[in-house]
Amino acid sequence: MSIPKLRLGTRLFLSHIAVMLVGFGSFIVISKLSFPEQVTLHLTTLEKRGYVIFTSSRSYLLKGFENVWDRSAAWSLLSGISAAGIVSYWFSQRIMQPLNQMKDITHEFASGHLEQRMPSLDIPELNQLSHSFNYMATSLEGVEKRRRELISDLTHELRTPLTVVRGYLEGLADGTLSPCDELYEKLVRETRRLERLTFDLQELSKAEAGHLLVNPQAINLQPLLNSLVEKFSEQLLDDGPVLELDYPSDIPLVLGDLDRIEQILINLIGNAIRYTNEGKIQIKLQKDNKWIWISIIDSGIGISNEDLPHIFERFWRVDKSRSSGFGGTGIGLAIVKRLIELHNGRIIVESELGKGSTFSFCLPTI
Ligand code: ADP
Repeated sequence: MSIPKLRLGTRLFLSHIAVMLVGFGSFIVISKLSFPEQVTLHLTTLEKRGYVIFTSSRSYLLKGFENVWDRSAAWSLLSGISAAGIVSYWFSQRIMQPLNQMKDITHEFASGHLEQRMPSLDIPELNQLSHSFNYMATSLEGVEKRRRELISDLTHELRTPLTVVRGYLEGLADGTLSPCDELYEKLVRETRRLERLTFDLQELSKAEAGHLLVNPQAINLQPLLNSLVEKFSEQLLDDGPVLELDYPSDIPLVLGDLDRIEQILINLIGNAIRYTNEGKIQIKLQKDNKWIWISIIDSGIGISNEDLPHIFERFWRVDKSRSSGFGGTGIGLAIVKRLIELHNGRIIVESELGKGSTFSFCLPTI
């Protein structure tokens, strides 16, 4: 036999009525059983005190009392059930109304209105549920927003080199452009840009999904930094900035993944060189309790206060045209930040337009 699926409001209403009926029923049964005995006892007590009660009037009195009791019990039952019905309906509505509201908001949210939020509710448990829903809704809205931004940024980033390559290839095909070294170089540059973009994106998506493996081990940063300074110094022009390393003798070993730390440093030093025309780029290490702070200080073009909060967002470039001219994709710092976080560290940036920037990140010591 299948149990009918009653709505919560009906269940609450019926449960209140059932409780009332059980209470009232037991009251009636018990009083019905004990009433004649109690009345008889009372009459006997009266007789003992000297009142004369005839046997005929005794049964008449007993019957009369019983009739009066039956009538008042029937009235009490009727008015009790009506009053309980009204109160129960009111209570059920108080619980059902916020639940119905929650149901409507959830439907709206599911149909794409991600801005929908639950109001504060009087019942603590439901209020907690509404808080949890709002928390989940905010996080889902964020994910959806980032997904849309990523797709729009991605299509924008891919469109530019693809349009350039297609333009050159069409020109070559219809003879309006003649093949020359310069043209092939441009084609190679654009395809390299596409290659770098897809590589960076893959790294970023792995880092964001937590799939980038970090293999922490004790690392001496000095040889790594020395080799990077040597490698980058070779690329610097004579009239360009100089690259310096300030490595105090008391720097202990750090806990980290050698390849990932190298990747972080290459990105930050590469950026410093890219955005510094003259002066000095310094790599400075400092010990702070259980952390080693590594700062890359440049005397380059700097970043304005308005741009600074966005610098670690993916595809963010201060001057899109200028930076893409430098071969930048605007993903490097987003990857760097994620890689540092995977090492339980953090990265901070200070910068002044026209004076230079300092990117500092910390790694745990052993
Ligand atoms: P990109 O590959 O474009 O350099 P990044 O994520 O590494 O991407 O950097 C984002 C933006 O931050 C850059 O486009 C640039 O505008 C700015 N930026 C990064 N490093 C520096 C720096 N050392 N000096 C000035 N601007 C910088």
